[in-house]
Amino acid sequence: MSALAPWQQRVLDGALAALAEGRLGHALLFTGAPKMGKGRVAEMLARRLLCATPGADGLACGRCRGCQLYSAGTHPDLRTVTLELNEKTDKLRSEIVVEQVRELGAWFSLTPQMGGAQVALIHPAHAMNLNASNALLKTLEEPSRERYLLLVTDRPGRLPATIRSRCQRLEFRAPSRAEALAWLCAAGHPEKLAEPALEAARGHPGLAADWLAEGGLELRRGVAADLNAVAAGKQPAVELAQRWLADEQAELRLRFAAELALDGAAHRLAGATAPGLTLPGDFQKLSAWYDGINRAREQLGVPALRHDLALAGLLLEWRSLFNDPGMQGARR
Ligand SMILES: [Zn+2]
Repeated sequence: MSALAPWQQRVLDGALAALAEGRLGHALLFTGAPKMGKGRVAEMLARRLLCATPGADGLACGRCRGCQLYSAGTHPDLRTVTLELNEKTDKLRSEIVVEQVRELGAWFSLTPQMGGAQVALIHPAHAMNLNASNALLKTLEEPSRERYLLLVTDRPGRLPATIRSRCQRLEFRAPSRAEALAWLCAAGHPEKLAEPALEAARGHPGLAADWLAEGGLELRRGVAADLNAVAAGKQPAVELAQRWLADEQAELRLRFAAELALDGAAHRLAGATAPGLTLPGDFQKLSAWYDGINRAREQLGVPALRHDLALAGLLLEWRSLFNDPGMQGARR
């Protein structure tokens, strides 16, 4: 397993210190942007809580029976609650449902089989629906000494305040630019690629690393080129909409389209030229377009909608933003 990133290590160190001093909460909320390593740190802590003979470094020993069972994925005192397959539709549910949380509550009332702690991981915690959240609240209201609930989410605001207020928060903060860049370079990415990736990812190193590994930056450049071609009347909107939606990168393309528009506007406000994308001059219309793209992106998961038509409409709108005669002079 590769070493933890510094921002992950800081959170883990904080939790281990709290545990050693007897002030670690029994309900923990791991929060922070996506791809920050929240789940990984939560799992390391879960492993430590279930270890019978932790090392001097405060971490799980890796050798005891508890550690072996953990590694095998069969520790009887560990439960993971996450999105499950809906047997009726054979698709992954979009919510954590009440039965899952009730079952967890019943499990918590049992005596730990290994005689140590009982640990439950819930992720993504914000996926609990209202009934599930209410059921969890009952569990949170009856704390017991060796019982730990680890909630992982990048959208803590979606959890009821009643749950948040009962949790100790472990927050993953975005590192400084220098630290993030050093981490990306140490992972083998050349600085000249790592820098623009980090900028495109708005300083989030995990996201930048993903994009570097999976060609995200090329995709982003392609989206800018496509939008420029639409603006210049060289690319039919309907055809492009179908191409953008043709594979599993659709969501990322729409995200990039929205961000390119926003970044371009920010560059221009700062008096600079936006790199890569030709922008229309009308800020208000540009901002409405940005909202439209984001809405289309949110609706991608909704079945039975004609996403291609909605997107083609937005692309035609993009083109029309350049046809307003009053705006020609403001083009870049
Ligand atoms: Zn151990």
